[in-house]
Amino acid sequence: MSVFQQPDFDDHEHVAFFSDQAAGLKCVIAVHNTNLGPALGGLRIWPYADEDAALTDALRLSRGMTYKSALAGLSLGGGKAVVIADPRRDKTEDLLRAFGRAVDRLAGKYITAEDVGSTVADLQTVRRETEFVAGIPDSGGEDPSSATAYGVYRGIKAAARHVFGSDSLYGLTVALQGAGNVGRHLAELLHEAKANLIVADINPAAVADLVQRFGATAISTDKIHMTCAEVFAPCALGASLNDQTIPELRARIVAGSANNQLAEARHGAMLREHGILYAPDYAINAGGVINIAHEGPGYDRQAAFAHVGRIQDTLAQIFELSDREGIATSAAADRLAEDRFMTKAA
Ligand code: NAD
Repeated sequence: MSVFQQPDFDDHEHVAFFSDQAAGLKCVIAVHNTNLGPALGGLRIWPYADEDAALTDALRLSRGMTYKSALAGLSLGGGKAVVIADPRRDKTEDLLRAFGRAVDRLAGKYITAEDVGSTVADLQTVRRETEFVAGIPDSGGEDPSSATAYGVYRGIKAAARHVFGSDSLYGLTVALQGAGNVGRHLAELLHEAKANLIVADINPAAVADLVQRFGATAISTDKIHMTCAEVFAPCALGASLNDQTIPELRARIVAGSANNQLAEARHGAMLREHGILYAPDYAINAGGVINIAHEGPGYDRQAAFAHVGRIQDTLAQIFELSDREGIATSAAADRLAEDRFMTKAA
């Protein structure tokens, strides 16, 4: 496995590999950039097919965090941890504590939080070994998924205004791919805004919950992206926008919480060519990280959520730049983010 030659290496500051055989820990912590502050990024626990897949995910996700924090105007850099394990089977206290010791060895350069495969309760276990944990009650905050969902909701409104001329979601149909921590909260906000929901998840219980609570329509996971809806909201794993799925999309808007939604950077341009407005993933899903940045003893939920709500303005700015320059929205977001974290570096 090469690291420096990896297509996704992108000048990472620090990539660390940790192993603890007794605890079953195999983990990569990637720190992309700390020009604006310590690298914050979640803990992903996933049964990766191999170590290359885990490394690629860590590199791409940590880079995304640098851009996300910069675009959200935070004094934080980008990092990410991935643990190669099945969260349903292998997630023991020993494993989580061994991960906590790994985080601690980076002495605050990397701050961990919740992500796919990890929960607030897991992070509380990690916290027993290191203070560098955010997004848990002990750190003065709360589970970031509701803030993330609120940001996605406001981002969908920005996209609706751009495409349909109004940010009302009344009567619009949203196809929700993934009904996990974020998807559930988002479904609730959309239901309150009187939008219609179509939902797919590999976990039938998660789908049944949204059908029962919000009258959502269930659909299979291989059909969700091509269902008839105004908005496609990817809230599961990455790479859901690719050569196969983009031509099959029927929605005018793609706006969801998943990280790394574009299989490759060029898919941003492909969405534009297909007349689909894409809300760049790291711009629309910054709510959790914004909320975490507000954590601490004087945590003010209202102020934090007001900051999250500004995602709507950031996206409007991105959509305008994209139209003005004739570039993909993903390229416009990159440009705005780089202006922030690279200027600081100079
Ligand atoms: P989660 O693990 O709680 O939920 C993910 C859901 O997706 C699960 O219910 C899972 O069963 C489902 N899923 C997996 N594969 C699927 C498939 N092929 N089709 C449909 N559903 C599938 O994770 P989450 O915290 O809700 O995060 C969702 C996404 O948002 C992730 O990409 C995550 O990185 C991103 N994100 C989350 C946060 C946060 O605050 N939790 C913040 C920023 C970004």
